[in-house]
Amino acid sequence: MHRIVAGIPTLKHHCDTLARDPERYRPTQCPHCGLGHPWLHGHYTRKADRTTSGQENPVPIPRFFCPGCGHTCSRLPSCVAPRRWYGWALQQTVLLLLWIGLSLYAVSGLPSLFDTPPPCRSTCRRWGRWLQERAADFGFHLRSAFPDWGRVLGWPDFWVASLRQQSLSAIMTWLDHHAVSVP
Ligand SMILES: [Zn+2]
Repeated sequence: MHRIVAGIPTLKHHCDTLARDPERYRPTQCPHCGLGHPWLHGHYTRKADRTTSGQENPVPIPRFFCPGCGHTCSRLPSCVAPRRWYGWALQQTVLLLLWIGLSLYAVSGLPSLFDTPPPCRSTCRRWGRWLQERAADFGFHLRSAFPDWGRVLGWPDFWVASLRQQSLSAIMTWLDHHAVSVP
């Protein structure tokens, strides 16, 4: 894993960091063969800004090349979720709204969340099911590392308590760095 670079909360922050300090993105070793220090190998672009203005698009995602095995890998800032259309911050907001009792219909009908048109009902439902299905695996790792969080049991109370401690982005980055596949 280790696909996610920690501590990059917004796309703006990502573009600034990539321009100013690209070394921060370099993986310590190739995820395929383990050889150290893959080379920076350009970038690909991704449409990751889902706000109405979309002004950060297209977002550059840095790529690295391993001279040992010839594989490339890419590294995502922690604000962007792997294999997801929307970022972690919006997913966190939607999940919390569902857990306090708002219906899928109500959440998808909100005028906007962080200036982003709200995701449709099926997307919101999918996020809820995803976390519920992965809760045992994620919770096992998190409880071992953060014993305090483990005092709150049950679904979704453990997650409500955990998200008081750290953002969904930070939690998913932590899991990624501990060899847990996310999302
Ligand atoms: Zn390699």
